[in-house]
Amino acid sequence: MSTNQSLRPVTAEIVENHLFIGGCDTVELAHKYGTPLYVIDETTIRKICSEYKEAFKDYHNIHMMYACKSLCNLAVLKILDTEGFGFDTVSAGEIYTAYKAGINMKKVLFNGNNKSAKEIELALEYGIGRFSVDNFYEAELLNRIASSKNTKADILLRITPGIECHTHDYIQTGQIDSKFGFNLNLIDEIINLIKTEYKNLNLKGIHAHIGSQIFETRSYYDEVEILIRELARIKEVHGITLNEMNIGGGLGVKYTNDDTPPSVAELARAVTEAMKKALDKYAIEEPVIYIEPGRSIISTSGITLYTAGSKKTIPNVRKYIALDGGMADNPRPAMYQAKYTADVANKMNNPKTEFVTLAGRYCESGDILIENIKLPNIEAGDIVCIYNTGAYNYSMASNYNRVEKPAMVLVNNSQSAMIVSRESLDDLIARESIPDRLRK
Ligand SMILES: *Cc1c(COP(=O)(O)O)cnc(C)c1O
Repeated sequence: MSTNQSLRPVTAEIVENHLFIGGCDTVELAHKYGTPLYVIDETTIRKICSEYKEAFKDYHNIHMMYACKSLCNLAVLKILDTEGFGFDTVSAGEIYTAYKAGINMKKVLFNGNNKSAKEIELALEYGIGRFSVDNFYEAELLNRIASSKNTKADILLRITPGIECHTHDYIQTGQIDSKFGFNLNLIDEIINLIKTEYKNLNLKGIHAHIGSQIFETRSYYDEVEILIRELARIKEVHGITLNEMNIGGGLGVKYTNDDTPPSVAELARAVTEAMKKALDKYAIEEPVIYIEPGRSIISTSGITLYTAGSKKTIPNVRKYIALDGGMADNPRPAMYQAKYTADVANKMNNPKTEFVTLAGRYCESGDILIENIKLPNIEAGDIVCIYNTGAYNYSMASNYNRVEKPAMVLVNNSQSAMIVSRESLDDLIARESIPDRLRK
């Protein structure tokens, strides 16, 4: 089993009826740091990183790039840096965080479908390794800014491979987001522009990302075949040998027992098989590979601890247990009906006796974290743990209802360290002011 196939952090254990993660009692963590609390298990992150490196070890030249948008803060980036990962970023904020974490900026790639001039300038100043150029507008803008700074930007072209594999169901269900990248029929036009006009763009390769929470390795197989075919076609049509290929991220994780994501090894097998076959067929050299996992690296390492509060029982309908967090710290259930699994951290061995609905504290009926989950009897003050909240929780969190964003602690070897402090009430008004004329 690989780590993305686990419901819980790999260090999860029960000690005297309490849930322990990274050797730390989660009930003590909740009392020490307050709730809601994000807890990140370092061992789980390092384990999945090892699995990725092991699975792809036969490649001559491969760059593992952590997709920062899944969870981006100084400590997490530092851990991934020590694992030898590079970083896929999508904003000045993520680039700045990488810079402040002391990351070698050559290992940073800047991705996104509407990068601003200001963000591009910052990225050039920091000397980031690659821009993934998404569209014509950006190519012109990046070339202009690079030219004004007397520098050259090393780029990949973001392409949309989906357009020619529309026969597959997974494409029809919309795994490929057409907001991003050059459709295949526009690749020649952009390459011609780069060859003739955009002298400050240095084209190194192509990039695709086919979706997220992917369970079918077949999608990767098809993607790799299309990317290799394009590299061969570009060589033939333009006489340019591009030797970099970024296959994006997207490997799924297990949020509930119904989820059956493939292992990292299975992902690698699909990529390798497709690669071998396509390299043979199109007779080109193996390119440098980039892979950009986000969710599968960080999701399983994270849990969120909540304190149970009020209850509401509607006879013959359901019993609501309200938690002290909800859609502002985890918007995924409200945004796209995402499912999660939970335990009562201080009643791990108690029999699960009733179905309850775990509701959030925010003023929206849709603020339900888990519907109908069988748990032990919950009393106010119990600590509820929701698993697999490492990815796209904190990074999507808001201050809805004017609630302070929770703290995040890193656990490892029975020690805990706060890596993001809880927002204060003063933080909430820190950037606000009242115009003078209203003060009279
Ligand atoms: C979001 C994104 C990723 C990461 O996707 P996950 O599903 O979190 O692995 C990788 N590459 C690109 C270009 C992305 O936009």
